[in-house]
Amino acid sequence: MQWYPSLVAFFFGLSVGSFANVVVYRVPRGLSIVKPRSACPGCGTEIAWYDNLPVFSYLWLRGRCRTCAARISWRYPALELVTAGIWVALTLRFDLTAQLPAFVALGSTLVILSAIDFEHRRLPNKILGPAAIIGLLLLLLAAGLSGEWGRLLRSLAGALAYGLPLFLIALAVPKGMGGGDIKLGAYLGLHLGWLGLAHVAVGAILGFLFGAVAGIALIAAGKKGRKDPIPFGPFMAIGSLVAVFFGEPLVRFWLG
Ligand SMILES: [Zn+2]
Repeated sequence: MQWYPSLVAFFFGLSVGSFANVVVYRVPRGLSIVKPRSACPGCGTEIAWYDNLPVFSYLWLRGRCRTCAARISWRYPALELVTAGIWVALTLRFDLTAQLPAFVALGSTLVILSAIDFEHRRLPNKILGPAAIIGLLLLLLAAGLSGEWGRLLRSLAGALAYGLPLFLIALAVPKGMGGGDIKLGAYLGLHLGWLGLAHVAVGAILGFLFGAVAGIALIAAGKKGRKDPIPFGPFMAIGSLVAVFFGEPLVRFWLG
């Protein structure tokens, strides 16, 4: 096994995860992601770079602010580790090929969108818009570098194949589906389509399956009423990531 690319991917993933924390906190609150520097919400002290290293600073400071000892949420290092794990897994899945940048961008975006959807029940256009443009450009680059232009066509077909049915569901059941879910579907379909249209189907089906199971479990556990909104984005994201990794065996399994 090639451990060196995985190690590099791990540290890149940690840094991107650290940036993802900033985006997840600030974008839904309408704050700028570039200024000001991060500060402790307890005492307002600016956080020095050595106290702001992903995961390591959290462990070193034992999850507390250096100045006022206010607790730092475990969600910060958790999100960094999840992002790093996704980067390593995608690097192992795709190797150092032209398509890897598009898929690590996808994985990082899905971490950000899922965290925001869980907390705020929405998928901001401010993230979906740039993510879609970056995704298109990186897939265009991958097609150019590999000469696999047919995949780019399948990508566009995939965006339509995942997004359009959601749009039609939203028309038929006005309160069932958010506009963000439709756009997320198109964004996921764009990337799954690159791998093949069967991957789009697997990703979409798994997304709905995971969402339905989680919804039923939450209602059964008495944590949600039948009419409470359940964020759907994270389940669509997980379904698509599973399809990225296990799409081929799943297609073979389903088709017999
Ligand atoms: Zn503090």
